[in-house]
Amino acid sequence: MLKKFLLIIFLISITHKSYCWGFYAHKKINYLAVFLLPPQMLILYKPNIEFLTEHAVDPDKRRYAVAAEGPRHYIDIDHYGKYPYAELPHNYKDAVAKFGEDTIMANGIVPWHILTMLTRLTKAFKEKNFSAIMRNSAEIGHYIADAHVPLHASSNHNGQFTNQIGIHAFWESRVPELLADKQFDFFIGKAAYIKNPAEFIWARVLESGREADSVLLIERELSKQFPGDKKYSFEEKNNILIRQYSSDYTIAYNKKLNGMVERKMRQAIFAVASFWYTAWINAGQPNLSALTTKTFSANDLKEFEELNNQWQNEKIKGREE
Ligand SMILES: [Zn+2]
Repeated sequence: MLKKFLLIIFLISITHKSYCWGFYAHKKINYLAVFLLPPQMLILYKPNIEFLTEHAVDPDKRRYAVAAEGPRHYIDIDHYGKYPYAELPHNYKDAVAKFGEDTIMANGIVPWHILTMLTRLTKAFKEKNFSAIMRNSAEIGHYIADAHVPLHASSNHNGQFTNQIGIHAFWESRVPELLADKQFDFFIGKAAYIKNPAEFIWARVLESGREADSVLLIERELSKQFPGDKKYSFEEKNNILIRQYSSDYTIAYNKKLNGMVERKMRQAIFAVASFWYTAWINAGQPNLSALTTKTFSANDLKEFEELNNQWQNEKIKGREE
């Protein structure tokens, strides 16, 4: 019995190696974003859709390799007051001048990092650099998706202050894994040009910050209606029995959230495709057809392999969610 118990604990800790929307949702968001692109971009993105999908989670893997990676995935925006967080300058230099770099880094930098990634992707398009276009596309997709997760914009990011530990993965992994394929609508339309990317991403981050309270409150209320043995269950995942939020509890939570997870996923998909598209437009709409025969260099492949090894063998650097 003890052995089985330990095995379960061990397996749960393995599954916790995926953060931020969970690997499933991150991959899904990048994958679906491809279909929103215009034909001039699809010509390159479609043949590489598997890369964009698989590497949607590289930034999470990098959290096991690089200490500076962690803050790029979140912003504890409630440290700066209440919605709409007027105390916090949206310009990075102004924010650092006001609060100091240590505070800004400690509270997370996701909106600013997305803008850095946009600059990198735009440069990659200008240089027609296949590897840089693909890598930066896959990775900006990750950070944009994270910015849409309410608990990535809250200091109570895993419900640790309100006795709700586990809610982070519940919202962003368990709900989409159980329901996205079955009932979410991912017909979204086309990517759009974003005139002011900073304004766009800040609006999303502020919205996430505002929604974090509902994400937590609704679960607390629902929890009162479910006894422990109904709230959690042992269910099979990849042929392994694990303890997790029960299907009934997950379905009830999603219902009470009134479509929030689906809405945020849809917004994330639209935003990812639109940032890709915007970088391409701002780079002068380079012709991508010459890049369709390109592949990754031996050096690229080595880097991917190293990242995977570090993710599998190292401990996370920085906080877990
Ligand atoms: Zn992340």
